[in-house]
Parts: sequence; structure tokens; C-alpha cells
Amino acid sequence: MEAKEKATDKEHKHKKFTNLAVLTSGGDAPGMNPCLRAVVRAGIHAGFVMYGVYHGYKGLVTSDIIDFNTRSVGGILHLGGTVIGTSRFPEFEKASVRKEAVANLKAFFINGLIVIGGEGSLRGALELENEGFPVVGIPATIDNDINETDYAIGFDTAVNTVLEAIYRLRDTAASHGRLVILETMGRHAGHIALAAGLAGGAEVIITPEKRLSMDEIEELVQQCFTRKKLFTMVVVAEGAGSANEIADELRKRTQKEVTTTVLGYIQRGGTPTAFDTLLASQMGALAIKAFKTGKTGTMTSYKDGKFQLVLIKDVLKKPKPLNQDLYELYKILAM
Ligand code: ADP
Repeated sequence: MEAKEKATDKEHKHKKFTNLAVLTSGGDAPGMNPCLRAVVRAGIHAGFVMYGVYHGYKGLVTSDIIDFNTRSVGGILHLGGTVIGTSRFPEFEKASVRKEAVANLKAFFINGLIVIGGEGSLRGALELENEGFPVVGIPATIDNDINETDYAIGFDTAVNTVLEAIYRLRDTAASHGRLVILETMGRHAGHIALAAGLAGGAEVIITPEKRLSMDEIEELVQQCFTRKKLFTMVVVAEGAGSANEIADELRKRTQKEVTTTVLGYIQRGGTPTAFDTLLASQMGALAIKAFKTGKTGTMTSYKDGKFQLVLIKDVLKKPKPLNQDLYELYKILAM
């Protein structure tokens, strides 16, 4: 109520794209906080009145909407997760619920929304845009499974977390000459497994896009034994197999000692890397620019070395393919 009264005080400032709200939605990702900070500060710098929405799309319906100043986003740059919270809120797929959300935004004279999140969140954003409420999306997901951008916020941090695990596992595996199987996140996409696996020198990488049969895995592992490798590292994305099941099978087939590590939620948290923080800051500022220039229905993208705005409807047309060049390179370097 108090926030609503404050909103009324700001009524005189209301004209096209004057009051903007920002929310984080779906799976949290490191870098959401620096992105929030950039959106709020670049927004205020550009003359907008800025609001934060707590708990993703759910907060739009419960009117968990607070006016933000430059201090509201202080001291959060290095924090993982998102300080304004996020939610899985399937009710938002209903047009009647979105109508309620838009009515609540309008009660605050908010006339534009910035959504920081993954593919599901972008689907919600596109629905709002198509229904006449202007939205700009910012891709943030550790899975990096969003098309039309080379990087989503959070991916680089997650890859670095997996890489650190690989280095640690290598130390002990090399001492014992073991076979190590590491399971990463990635139910539908293997971008984390491929990037971390390549960077960490994995001998075998298995992803949902490039599945391998048990016979193929055994063959690759046997080749490593023949080549007298110090140890063998298999990286598997969760959507392409279970580390424990693969290990059980390889123990039977090779009679070797096999150790497994399932990284799980460790990959989601942590301080964002410099890359993710820079990406988040620049994408946040670009989203504000999109409203300045009236380019809504768009998503901020970093593609082929350039920041740009792409249409959300194009982003959602098809799944992002695995980086084929990286995959080919891994096969050469794993020799
Ligand atoms: P992510 O954004 O990380 O992919 P989800 O897939 O859980 O995470 O999506 C986040 C939220 O976005 C959902 O809980 C829901 O509120 C909203 N959402 C997802 N798909 C749709 C859709 N088709 N229409 C409207 N809202 C959606």
C-alpha cells in the first residue's frame, strides 16, 4: 500500500516509457545481481523511474513491487543468485493471470518491463508483449540454451565452477591412474559439459545433442588405456546419462577402478566471474537503451563479438545447437 501511494506521487512523471520495472525469473544464475544493478542504475541515469518486482512473475500478481533508487542495488555486485528472488509460477501461462499482472503494473504507472531469465521466462515476456505490454528480455541461465546469443548470463561462472572441479579431480585421478566420471547439469543441452570438458581436457564428453551408446563409451575409454593415458576423464551432461550408471557398467566391462562425482546445484551458485559481470552490466544497460529507442519485444544478445537486440520471437523459434566447432576440437584434443 505504501509503495502504491509512492507510485501515485510519481504520477506526474508518467509519459511513454517513463516507469520501468525489472524482475528475475526461472532458474537463478550468477550474474543476475550485477544485471539488476545495471538495469536500475542505467535506467535512473536515462531518466526512468525504476521499480523492482520480487519473486519473478508471481510478484506481479501479488503486487510485490517496490520503487528502487540507486542505493537499492548497492553491495550486491559479487553475490550469486538474485536478491529480488525468483519463482517457478506456471499460473503465468494463463492469459487471465497475465491480465491481472498487467493491471497491477498499471496501478504503479509502470509502462515497461525488463525480464531477466531463461527460455521459459522469455516465453512469458513474449506473451506480455503480444498482449500489448512492452517487454525487453535479458538471457540469464547457466545452461546457455538460449538461441540468438552466444552467451547467457551465468554460463561462464558455471563453466568455471565445473572446470575447478575437473582440476581437483585430475589431481587425485592422476595419482591413482583412475577412470573418473563427472556429471554436470544440462537436462536438455550440453553446453556446460562441452565447454568445461574441452577446457578441462576431458577424454570423453557426452551431451544430449551428442549421445553415445555404452559400447561407444567403452571403446573410447579402452583407446585411452591403449594410449597409456595417466587417467581418463569422462564428462556427461545429466540429460545424456547418469555418471553412476555409466560407472557401474564400465566397472563390469573394464575391471578398472572408476570414481564418480555428481556436481548438482554447486554449479548454480557462487560469485559471478568477471566475464559474467561485464556481460550482465552491458546487457542491463542495453535493455534500457531498447526502451529509450522503443525497441521492445526484443532480447539483449552478445553475438559474434557484438552487443545487439534480437526479436524474442526469433529467439524462441528453435533450440540452440551445440557449438559444432568446439565439439570437433574436443575430439582432436582428447587424443
Ligand atoms: P527459465 O526461465 O529459467 O527457463 P522456467 O522454464 O521455469 O525457467 O520459466 C520461468 C517462468 O516463466 C515460469 O515459472 C512461468 O512463470 C513463466 N513461463 C514459462 N513458460 C511460459 C509460457 N509459455 N507462457 C507464459 N509464462 C511462461
